[in-house]
Amino acid sequence: MIHAIVPVGSLFQQNCSILGDEETREAFIVDPGAEPGLILAKVEELGVKVKGVLITHAHLDHVGAVAEVKEALGVEAWMHPGEAELYAGVGRQAGLLGLPAPRMAAIEHELREGMVLKLGKLRLEMLETPGHSSASVSMFIPEEKRVVAGDTLLRRSIARPVLPGGNLETLIRSIRRKLLGLPPETEIYPGHGPETTVGEEAKWNPFLCQHGIVASERTFA
Ligand SMILES: [Zn+2]
Ligand SMILES: [Zn+2]
Repeated sequence: MIHAIVPVGSLFQQNCSILGDEETREAFIVDPGAEPGLILAKVEELGVKVKGVLITHAHLDHVGAVAEVKEALGVEAWMHPGEAELYAGVGRQAGLLGLPAPRMAAIEHELREGMVLKLGKLRLEMLETPGHSSASVSMFIPEEKRVVAGDTLLRRSIARPVLPGGNLETLIRSIRRKLLGLPPETEIYPGHGPETTVGEEAKWNPFLCQHGIVASERTFA
């Protein structure tokens, strides 16, 4: 498959992903968070035909360039409806960081658990993985054993849910139920930092290990 990662935004270095099918050259752009020029240049370099914009969650660093990318390519956007409130408050998120509010765009389609979007022979399965935000999703490509995880899981770390709608217990539960059950060789592409695998995180991620112990102590208390 085609999978280009474009780190965007000097402050956040968010990994925007361009996912595509090599045969049909059809592609989706996941999380265009900033620097639309960089993303569009990569689209041109790859020679892909973009079918739409997919959003893992509505934090500023993941949605800041949705409007520019949609307009430049004439495509529509998909997001979980549980992120609508957060999306409506992106200007406020920017204000908290002392940044200008980005121009916002309409979201035409919903992402839901079990939904499948197709790119040629590739399937993108939506997994609801709430916790980092109220309705974050991860995108699983079974043919490639690959997950684009947004901020649900980072290599050897997690992205603490600091904004309203996030919840640490929910986040850990989502990772355990939805991601750690995938084959251990499944590659995880986080929203920030380098990629990892399900097996490595199950073994080495300190948040998952510690939390596991705390959770089981509570269960038996
Ligand atoms: Zn986030
Ligand atoms: Zn992020």
